[in-house]
Amino acid sequence: MALQKPKWGTPNIKANKESTMKRTVFVDIKPDSKIRVRFLPPWDSDGMLFFAAFNHYRYLDEKEKRAWACLTRHGTEADGACACCEMSDYLKKQRTKDEKRQGRDVEARGRWYSQVLVEGMEGEGPKLLALSKTTADQIIDILQLQATDDEAFFTDPEQGTWIQIERKGAKLETTYTVLPTSKRVPLSGLFPEWEDKMLNVQEALGLKIGDRKTQLASIIETFSKTVELDDVFPIEELTSAATE
Ligand SMILES: [Zn+2]
Repeated sequence: MALQKPKWGTPNIKANKESTMKRTVFVDIKPDSKIRVRFLPPWDSDGMLFFAAFNHYRYLDEKEKRAWACLTRHGTEADGACACCEMSDYLKKQRTKDEKRQGRDVEARGRWYSQVLVEGMEGEGPKLLALSKTTADQIIDILQLQATDDEAFFTDPEQGTWIQIERKGAKLETTYTVLPTSKRVPLSGLFPEWEDKMLNVQEALGLKIGDRKTQLASIIETFSKTVELDDVFPIEELTSAATE
């Protein structure tokens, strides 16, 4: 006899709670906590474990906050030179502390992104982990060591292991400590569909690449009240960007 479906069920509190939580593809390591992550192997044949993304933060674009991808790193020749880099360089060279600080605030910031399964959230599939250069370097050191010792890489689908990342402190005082672990955890045991659900890291990041003219329009919106922009950029370029 076929099982009859019940007409009602019992509230599943855990599932309900989870359904209202914001799911994001980004992993965040909270201050003074540690997480364990299982790195997926590089997603394509170039063998890069990290995708380095450089963004200029704190811009406005039609009244919305906007981060522009740095054209020096991510632009094509047709996009033109990075106006956001020029803006930041100009401010950093000014006399007042405020201007110098503002210049540093809008300079390109690099983050190194990798895809990982997070312990305790393996079922959610690959997530993007953003690391600073120094932390990414610690991870690369482990790969180097494993290559030297002829050991399996921690990214290996079968032989790979958890990597523990501990965050201490907040803001400028933040430090990250990376520790390899020795227990082997096959990816298929953590998240069987891992191969199908692998992310194209660059695409998943959704970098906002605006050409020089687009950047200039945003620079005008962000800085025209506080900076004499015709000291920074040719007036024709500003006029053309403003009328766009
Ligand atoms: Zn730039």
